Amino acid sequence: MSGRRANSSRWIDLHLHSTASDGAYTPARLMEMAAARGLSAVALTDHDTVAGLAEAAAQAAALGLEFIPGIELEASCGRGLMHILGYWIDPDCQALTGLLDRMLAGRHTRNAEIIARLADVGIDLDYRAIRDAAGSGSVGRPHIAGALVRLGAVAGFREAFDRFLGPSGAAHVPLASSSAAEIIAAITAAGGIASLAHPATLRYDSHLELRTILRRLTDVGLRAIEVIHPSHTAKESRLFVELAERLGLAPTGGSDFHKLGVRAAKGVGFGRVRVGYSVLEALAAVAGQSVKSLDTD
Ligand code: MN
Ligand code: MN
Ligand code: MN
Repeated sequence: MSGRRANSSRWIDLHLHSTASDGAYTPARLMEMAAARGLSAVALTDHDTVAGLAEAAAQAAALGLEFIPGIELEASCGRGLMHILGYWIDPDCQALTGLLDRMLAGRHTRNAEIIARLADVGIDLDYRAIRDAAGSGSVGRPHIAGALVRLGAVAGFREAFDRFLGPSGAAHVPLASSSAAEIIAAITAAGGIASLAHPATLRYDSHLELRTILRRLTDVGLRAIEVIHPSHTAKESRLFVELAERLGLAPTGGSDFHKLGVRAAKGVGFGRVRVGYSVLEALAAVAGQSVKSLDTD
């Protein structure tokens, strides 16, 4: 009997974060955890960086875990929060690295502005210390929130965002992000395929309005949509599956795992989501990529 399982009982996770961005585990450790959880294929999708991909790919190869190099980027959007995932990206593509450099510069400017506004309300944070603590990864509001907690200025992350860093906070500074078209173009130039992450964070008043947003994204090269995400209600998931079919977008899914928590023990792999291997096969077909064919043994 073959040690391999049929694709129908194999699970994947196409949305993971490591210490290269705001995750708690190194790329290598994350791959070990994924393998230990019995996942067959994973994508590392750190925010704004490709820094973790080489380490993750090497560790995944050593473990026999199928690996898809990915990324997650925030697009400017007047309608809620728009995140775009890229899969099978070439991390050395200049169209992509150029965009990442510009985003990093924008994030740095924003962080400095947030620190200045916190100083205005009497809270002094050392930006250099925050950057050092973050290591090589991109620094963002979660790191500043952590510094506020350590300083005792707030009790926790929730309070940090409510009182200071969130949209109605005293030190809120919007991030000047790139347009969805720009991001999708960079992902595509890097040989990748773009998927709209957790569409539930978009703000829309009707299904028609959501469909219009998706159609515009599809017009500029979006090829997939994350229909499985822990933040989605069952109703939302059904809606996104329906829209994916209607617009010819490949469905993707993942846990958006950052660190182990109370909910992480449930489900398959990380978090509460279950994403079947067939999702990867369909996505690979759209992307023109090959995946391991496992039903042949
Ligand atoms: Mn994150
Ligand atoms: Mn996201
Ligand atoms: Mn994410």
